[in-house]
Amino acid sequence: MPPIIGITATLKEDVDSVAERPLGRFVRADLDYVEGVAGAGGAPLVLPPVGDKSVAEALIHGLDGLLLSGGSDLDPGYYGEEPVPELGITLPERDAFEMALVGLALRRGMPVFGICRGMQVLNVALGGSLYQDLASQWERDLLKHRQDTPKWQPTHEVRVSEGSYIARVMGRESVKVNSYHHQAIRDLAAGLVVTGLSADGVIEAVEATDLSERWLLGVQWHAEAMRGAGPQQENLFEAHVSAAEGHALRRAA
Ligand code: MN
Repeated sequence: MPPIIGITATLKEDVDSVAERPLGRFVRADLDYVEGVAGAGGAPLVLPPVGDKSVAEALIHGLDGLLLSGGSDLDPGYYGEEPVPELGITLPERDAFEMALVGLALRRGMPVFGICRGMQVLNVALGGSLYQDLASQWERDLLKHRQDTPKWQPTHEVRVSEGSYIARVMGRESVKVNSYHHQAIRDLAAGLVVTGLSADGVIEAVEATDLSERWLLGVQWHAEAMRGAGPQQENLFEAHVSAAEGHALRRAA
């Protein structure tokens, strides 16, 4: 049986395209995440960001792996900061649900793959912090991390650490990626190691210090939107699904 991979979703206002009247709020997950998981042999399960911790607890029992998707800014209160003026939109329900869920996943030793916001959520859940806004808080030269071009289009390079897990998975030490973020990891959490940097020094990839003990991987780019660009992005999804498969087998044993 394919391992079940929970994919976090967001809440989004929608309007009727014909009548242009508000339709209310909808649970939304980009199909690229769902297809990325399914294409890698996993069974994707979209998780609505609602409910209290007991809901997260009930849901986690049915999962073998967790994929933290991209999206809005995380409330800086989760890393002990007040908001700066440049902070973007935050969704309290989503933040609370994901922080509860990732905490439970970490305690269970569940493989967690974080993409964009997801990598940042993973870092904060483990005790790290973020730049709330790179443009106003980064003190050196900065590349364009908020590209205006389509998601499938790579715009800046990432150098991945020689001998790192992600270098092995992608089969290369340099990869050109898309970039859709104005936040980034600031203080790295204990238990994570930086394995990818852009030329300006922004953290673009992290992994667990000991992957055999717990499988954690984070990328700052939208790997799900670049699956057509070559096998290296699909390989990330396959690595996660296969780690989730191992986790399911160990739990069943
Ligand atoms: Mn970037």
